[in-house]
Amino acid sequence: MSDKPIVLMPEDIQRIMGKDAQRNNITAAKMISEIVKTTLGPKGMDKMLVSPTNDIVITNDGATILKEMQIEHPAAKMMVEIAKTQEIEVGDGTTSAVMIAGKLLDNAEKLLDKKIHPTVIVKGYRLACEKAQEILKEISIKIPIENNEYLRQIAMTAMTGKGAEDSKEKLSDIIVEAIQQLRDNLKVDLNDIKIEKIKGEGIGDTQLISGVVFDKEKTSYDMPSVVDNARIALIDFPIEIKSPDIKTEVSISSPQQLQSFILQEENSIKEMVQSIKDSGANVIFCQKGIDDFASFLLAKSRIYACRRVSRSDMEKLSKATGAKIINNLNDLTEFDLGEAGVVEQIKTGEDKLTYVRGCRNPKALTILIRGGTDHILDEVERAIADGLGDVSCALKNGLIVPGGGAVEIELSKRLRNFGQSLSGREQLAVEEFASALEFIPITLAENAGIDPIDTLTELKSRHDSGERNAGLNLFENKIVDVLESKIIEPSKIKSQAISSATEVATMILRIDDVIASKPDKKGRMNFEGTRPDYMSGLE
Ligand code: ADP
Ligand code: MG
Repeated sequence: MSDKPIVLMPEDIQRIMGKDAQRNNITAAKMISEIVKTTLGPKGMDKMLVSPTNDIVITNDGATILKEMQIEHPAAKMMVEIAKTQEIEVGDGTTSAVMIAGKLLDNAEKLLDKKIHPTVIVKGYRLACEKAQEILKEISIKIPIENNEYLRQIAMTAMTGKGAEDSKEKLSDIIVEAIQQLRDNLKVDLNDIKIEKIKGEGIGDTQLISGVVFDKEKTSYDMPSVVDNARIALIDFPIEIKSPDIKTEVSISSPQQLQSFILQEENSIKEMVQSIKDSGANVIFCQKGIDDFASFLLAKSRIYACRRVSRSDMEKLSKATGAKIINNLNDLTEFDLGEAGVVEQIKTGEDKLTYVRGCRNPKALTILIRGGTDHILDEVERAIADGLGDVSCALKNGLIVPGGGAVEIELSKRLRNFGQSLSGREQLAVEEFASALEFIPITLAENAGIDPIDTLTELKSRHDSGERNAGLNLFENKIVDVLESKIIEPSKIKSQAISSATEVATMILRIDDVIASKPDKKGRMNFEGTRPDYMSGLE
């Protein structure tokens, strides 16, 4: 064998291994959890995020904060992923999920210090997670989903402390009404709820529209602004003089020929408008263009028309009014038309919007949010999205748990009991898992300016004496039966948060080697070589 060194990787590849890799990843993950922690719960604070282009986002929503921050570190990015998964899967509980993951790693570090091998910690955490899911099933409470009162309370708990706080009762009514109208037994597709935001008036003027509102105006001033008993055609076909796709040359040698060419084109538009009229439609929404001549003819026939309506609005319009989307005007018959009580153009501020409302049995609805500024509108939208997510999530299995930290304390207590049945080292891991869940009530108290240690002690002792619904009521800053105070959350939010937090924490714990081939973002060499920024400073 020769003495030549074996070269596996290019020189500028950076590696950190063993303990360094673990500590570096854990520290980064903990930092993410520290960032979102102050926003947890009804007394959580907001964050202002300023983008490189000076766009400002003010929010209390964990997923939004992490999305807007440009996180670089790979382990930190994994934490951001939990927030995303939580948002997609259940629509709320993002801050809690990230915080639990951070705390699981924080506590794992203590075990690593005691020379407990990561695989033992991983095993203990997995056992604890499985057990937690079991316990969660046991302690969840079944609610009758026809009962709007429960659903309203779930929506209210979701929105407490968000930008929409003052109007949360009204917004909860809207959320529950929307979901009850659209639900197909236990399922509801939240894509069927359109959220439209209009600046002006106050949050309390937010409305639920049984139909669709979209920001398109009628194509001609001469069209009617209001059409009662609307019969609506949805057309995915341009109503305009065809512009050939390929460069075409039309040679015309006399004024007569030009005249007849134009006439021919005009006739085809006339025919199209005639067939719309014949179908009995008095409103058309077109996904493609409608030219001026067509608009003129439509206006003459007292037909209201909008052009270039987005595909997603067309689909919602179809669901709301029952109209079929037609892509050939020859096919249009009265059976393809949809109905709405009224279609009208309303001017709010500088915008003109088309309202399609009073649909009889709409399968799509619009929540029209009002508020003073764009920032308020956005934050109210996020609060409503949380409310919608929570209520639709509660529908899925009809199970709820008490909020305000009650469920976390009960889980933690029962997990500790479970741990005692395990061998020494795994028991330690299960105990750390149990104590990680306590991070939620501790932080709820901390964010509200209440003593976290006293709170935790009292919560624990009340749970020990059998009060399984004892939690923090932050309306009164007291420990009470939170079920009675109607602070309730869907059980699925908690089970998802715990399982994705465990997945990420265990995944990060199992890494003992980071091999980074990514060059410094700025292409800069520091004296350690091309070590990426995120790898330095933390170890
Ligand atoms: P997440 O992104 O995890 O949903 P939130 O900021 O929405 O974070 O906070 C959710 C937490 O706030 C839950 O643990 C919930 O039980 C708690 N919570 C909501 N309303 C109250 C209340 N009135 N009193 C105490 N805790 C509450
Ligand atoms: Mg929430």
